[in-house]
Amino acid sequence: MFENLSDKLNSVFKKLKGQGTLTEKNIDDGLKEVRFALLEADVHYRIVKQFIADIRERAVGADVLESLTPGQQVIKIVYEELTRLMGETRQDLNLTGQAPVSVMLVGLQGSGKTTTAAKLAVYLKKQGRKPFLVPADVYRPAAIDQLKKLGSQVQVPVFASDPGMNPVDICRQARVAAQQQGCNTLLLDTAGRLHIDEALMEELVGIKQAVSPSDILLVADAMTGQDAVNIAQSFNERLDIGGVILSKMDGDARGGAALSIKAVTGRPIKFVGVGEKTNALEAFHPDRMASSILGMGDVLSFIEKAQSVVDEKKAADLERKLRKNEFTLEDFRDQMTQIRKMGSIGDLMKMIPGMGKVKQMKDMEVDDGQLSRIEAIINSMTAEERRRHAIINGSRRKRIAKGSGTSVQEVNRLLKDYTQVMKMVKKINKGGMRGLGRGMMP
Ligand code: GDP
Repeated sequence: MFENLSDKLNSVFKKLKGQGTLTEKNIDDGLKEVRFALLEADVHYRIVKQFIADIRERAVGADVLESLTPGQQVIKIVYEELTRLMGETRQDLNLTGQAPVSVMLVGLQGSGKTTTAAKLAVYLKKQGRKPFLVPADVYRPAAIDQLKKLGSQVQVPVFASDPGMNPVDICRQARVAAQQQGCNTLLLDTAGRLHIDEALMEELVGIKQAVSPSDILLVADAMTGQDAVNIAQSFNERLDIGGVILSKMDGDARGGAALSIKAVTGRPIKFVGVGEKTNALEAFHPDRMASSILGMGDVLSFIEKAQSVVDEKKAADLERKLRKNEFTLEDFRDQMTQIRKMGSIGDLMKMIPGMGKVKQMKDMEVDDGQLSRIEAIINSMTAEERRRHAIINGSRRKRIAKGSGTSVQEVNRLLKDYTQVMKMVKKINKGGMRGLGRGMMP
């Protein structure tokens, strides 16, 4: 996501950085390109207009810091304005109220509502809450089965909705059932339609009145760009939603929805969906999103993600090792094991500053079978080999292949992948990071 926009913005910044002093003229030239880049990313034109005007005022005005070069000033201002545009601070689920509380998920058919309900259940479980999934879409019979299946997959109880029941009754009865089963957070998966229609809205308003949910979240498909923004506005007018979950941000969405929703609707994005799996949900942080758009990587998310599976110390160790180029084959193996729980290597790498720019990384998907072979290969190495991969010569490679039940080619490939990663980490540590924008920020 945002790759095009990132590339464009970076080329503008590069030009600006090359200039010793900034005149109004070259600020305007730069902003013109920023404007094009945002429009091309499908950001709402009114928002773009205001955004550019705000940046211009600050860039030409007195809002400058002695310690930064003029080009850096502009990047800093764009970063701050992007963060502000997306809502400034992280907004989490609202779960206040008397337990059990309800979170209502609404959205058009196919937006990813049912999948997101399961993802939220996983998220809530991690927070120590006891979620209860409620299928309240009685029109699409498969929807109830789909949620039941997802529920058993993530080991969260699902209310036994009957398609013959009315959705308001389902939600009311589910509340009682949740209480009986010791659950404190209901996730209501409501019906969707292909288009917004009055009957649907009335049904949703009815559920809202009956259960007084503590939060109402619209699930919208990021790939639909400005349509997602319009849909959010329509739902908000009728239901006064608490926030938005933008699904399918892993696709080639241009970013317009993520950048416009808060400004147009006044409602924050709370999460983004980044895949079909039940763990592919990320908390939305405006500041981190802004830094990732500007190609500064997302160290914070990286560490946070790592921490949810490894412990704190390990994550800090990994950070330090990467920075000091001390990342050994042993660490590589440990990471591979963690990656199984996190998604693809590409996901992980994108979060290291600068890595997002490395095109090859995006395609590095590794399946479980491959991961086991990689682990087996590294396990067959001696401790010394794992620390100093350079000593692994031809005969050692043969021995390792034999010991791990793999082939010499596979051992070669692994060593090549590893040295490639190391080369990039080194490059980035050697000032690449500053070149890519990090370190300029306060
Ligand atoms: P619903 O009709 O709103 O309940 O939508 P579903 O939950 O059935 O999702 C529709 C399709 O979108 C399914 O194939 C999901 O796997 C897929 N989907 C949902 N969220 C995401 C996401 O964040 N990324 C990707 N790539 N696919 C998603």
